[in-house]
Amino acid sequence: MTKYEKLVPPSKGEKVTIKDGQWNIPDNPIVCWVEGDGIGPEISKVMMKIVDAAVEKAYNGKRKFEWFEIYAGDKARELYSPEVTDEELKALSPDEQRKAYLPDDTLKVVRDYHLAIKGPCTTPIGKGFSSINVGIRKSLGLFVCLRPVWHIKGVPAPVTDPDAIDMVIFRENIEDIYAGIEGYPGSDRAHKLIDFLRTEWGVPADSDSLRYSAGISVKPMSPENTKRLVRKAIQYAIDNKRRVVTLCHKGNIMKATEGQFRIWGYEVAMDEFRDQIITEEELNDQYDGDREKAYASGKILVNDRIMDAMFQQVLLRPSEYEVVALPNLNGDYLSDQLAAQVGGLGFAPGANLSDDVFFAEATHGTAPKHAGKNRINPGSITLSACLLLEHMGWSEASEMIKTAVSKAVESRNVTYDIARQLKPTVEPISTSAFGEEIIKNL
Ligand code: NAD
Repeated sequence: MTKYEKLVPPSKGEKVTIKDGQWNIPDNPIVCWVEGDGIGPEISKVMMKIVDAAVEKAYNGKRKFEWFEIYAGDKARELYSPEVTDEELKALSPDEQRKAYLPDDTLKVVRDYHLAIKGPCTTPIGKGFSSINVGIRKSLGLFVCLRPVWHIKGVPAPVTDPDAIDMVIFRENIEDIYAGIEGYPGSDRAHKLIDFLRTEWGVPADSDSLRYSAGISVKPMSPENTKRLVRKAIQYAIDNKRRVVTLCHKGNIMKATEGQFRIWGYEVAMDEFRDQIITEEELNDQYDGDREKAYASGKILVNDRIMDAMFQQVLLRPSEYEVVALPNLNGDYLSDQLAAQVGGLGFAPGANLSDDVFFAEATHGTAPKHAGKNRINPGSITLSACLLLEHMGWSEASEMIKTAVSKAVESRNVTYDIARQLKPTVEPISTSAFGEEIIKNL
């Protein structure tokens, strides 16, 4: 009897295992993949071809991915709930709606196999279930959203020095305003909460800032979630020889939440990494503010910035920032702005992770109007696969892919999104041709 409802693991390949926090990666690991909706099938297939070719070449055929297809989005619904109509689905509970698009089978397999990559998925109909991505993050406890941002030479960018941007974003993934605890304007839920805040918290009834007509979204932030995020960010800086970790918050206004994010972040730095880090105050006292001297001593600078200032900083002084840890909403905004600064989402990689799951994903959506036209850019999911390879310790294959992508762009053999921005513009090539170009450059 199989362990899963509809999924059968590949007959070849070995499971990745984790023991005492150590990931053991066999030479032929089973890696889960979700094709995705809209443009998902086109970009996923190209990505897999590139990864297979790079791994084969980097390790002379000694290593190989065994791909295990699992389902989310429209394909999951077709397989797991083909008989349920849209109307019937809307009437189901949020969890039943979730199961139609994100089956328990999928979650179980990812928990068991630890490594996965996905194309974009359509946000389903119905009110109760927010989105497949949020569902994956919450169900699997993927508490970090990892978004490295750097400039690929030749990609047109709107800033004067895009090459100065080389940052890795660690965004908290589970709580903050994304917790989904909401009351719509005029609803019983909202009114009860407003009554409570007036009677128990003493918010004045005539206050313009808490009108009876308001909708309410609750913003919880905890020391547990903040600390595990910041811990990962500092550890990443240590492992990858990055020199500065910046905590970003709006703690001057939201003192009970984002202000605490700052305090808890520094607590992790001081309590767990004291010998490896230096604060900005210590930098000024001990090194007269000279970062290079502090870096030369091998210390990682841990500092913090208020969020509105940070948006300016990454435009005006980007080279001063390397690893950035942020609460959920701030992280969402900043990672997309940074992606735009280096030329857009077409080449923006991402992954969601916990201590025992690494789930890479394309950062853009399903772009339905381009679906099936073999014209969109497979760069985001391909570079996300590089994150997966790096996490596995297969950096040689990752570097090979990144260099091959750069070569393709520099030779101006690119998909429509990049082609139309080049000066002079060039004739675009198809998604599959761009994939072939990368493979040729490996
Ligand atoms: P989108 O990212 O799908 O597309 C917006 C536009 O960006 C497209 O029309 C296209 O012009 C461009 N674009 C996106 N990806 C591209 C690529 N790889 N190459 C070239 N151009 C590209 O955003 P949207 O239209 O807001 O969302 C469409 C659907 O995708 C929605 O159902 C949304 O919920 C879903 N979505 C899914 C994810 C995910 O699964 N990670 C993320 C965002 C949106």
